[in-house]
Amino acid sequence: MYRSPERTPAWVILLRFLAIGIPGALFVFLVFPALPFVLLFFGVMAAVFGLNWLFTNSVVKTFTPDYYEALKRGGGDPYLDNLGWPLNTDSEATRQHGLHPNVLCPHCGVGSFVKPGTTVACPSCGGSFTNG
Ligand SMILES: [Zn+2]
Repeated sequence: MYRSPERTPAWVILLRFLAIGIPGALFVFLVFPALPFVLLFFGVMAAVFGLNWLFTNSVVKTFTPDYYEALKRGGGDPYLDNLGWPLNTDSEATRQHGLHPNVLCPHCGVGSFVKPGTTVACPSCGGSFTNG
């Protein structure tokens, strides 16, 4: 699974999610003072995170396959990019567009990220242009 480098990595988001559970783990340890219960607590948290991730991706891929493919090509993820602070601290522009615009469309002036030497159709007006 490709995730573009300017976005918060999935493993960082998962670690933040588990860190949020530390007070819960302390509570579990007070009630059941045994390490296996604490590990089980974090295991359940990680499983919930993974199942939500899988479910969200499945739903978006099933009902809007074109949008899903475009999002994945841009290094995005429908679940990770919609998580709020403090899990995902990316700006709204990064969540929406991923890589920062490096070229302006000569037809309409809208910025987009295009690999140098690549010809693309503008996502805004549909006009064809080449970066570089
Ligand atoms: Zn354009």
